[in-house]
Amino acid sequence: SLAASILLALTVVPALGGTVDGNAWLMLTICPLMIAWPASAFTFWQSEKLKTAHRDLARTHAQLSAAHRRLAEKASRDPMTGMLNRESFFGALDVTRHDLDRGALLLIDVDHFKTINDRFGHLIGDKALLEIASAIKRAIRAGDVLGRIGGEEFAAYLLGASDAEAVHVAERIRREVELVRFLPVDERTVPLTVSIGGTGCPRAATVSDLMRAADKRLYQAKNGGRNLAIFAGEISVAA
Ligand code: GH3
Ligand code: MG
Ligand code: MG
Repeated sequence: SLAASILLALTVVPALGGTVDGNAWLMLTICPLMIAWPASAFTFWQSEKLKTAHRDLARTHAQLSAAHRRLAEKASRDPMTGMLNRESFFGALDVTRHDLDRGALLLIDVDHFKTINDRFGHLIGDKALLEIASAIKRAIRAGDVLGRIGGEEFAAYLLGASDAEAVHVAERIRREVELVRFLPVDERTVPLTVSIGGTGCPRAATVSDLMRAADKRLYQAKNGGRNLAIFAGEISVAA
């Protein structure tokens, strides 16, 4: 401020025909010094205010991001079983399998589930579904992807599984569900079973190809008497 004030006075005053004398020197030294203190204090105060506002904004932004992540996670899941919902499951399948050469898709459909609803009502039906979902979760490996893709239909994507491993896991799911002791009303156990159709996941196959192949085997398992797991690694890819 001092330098600017002196420079201005020394260029403007002589240009207007005046001279910078003793009093003028006093003025152009004292004035900028008096103005600079409150001006600096104000600027400092403003910058502190800005810093605080920036910190608050960053905190709010972090809270919003966390809320957004929680909401996205919630929206991607089936509220009843906690598994991925249909859309998210197929999304995850599509994204994950491109990085891997191996893997298997299993479609799991509860056998004669309508009968359970008809006999015991929908609330008991829901309990049966939860028991089945837990049995499926127990049977898969950590890291595999599970989805509830329909009312009483589940799907498992076995990351990096060989055909032999997929057959093993499919059989373990079938067995684990069969072993559930479901006692809806009294001490009598109501059998719960699932049919499973599975396919290997070659890179060239689309999600529709995989669904078609797994669905075909699920249909064979149903026609074969249910409570069956049918898996084939080979798949005919649509041209
Ligand atoms: P299949 O062995 O041929 O698969 O016979 P199914 O009776 O299991 O098959 P169907 O498709 O005839 O019936 C499925 C039933 O699942 C009908 C539907 O009411 C019931 N369902 C679907 N979602 C739910 C649910 O969230 N809760 C309950 N309780 N029932 C459900
Ligand atoms: Mg079904
Ligand atoms: Mg069914």
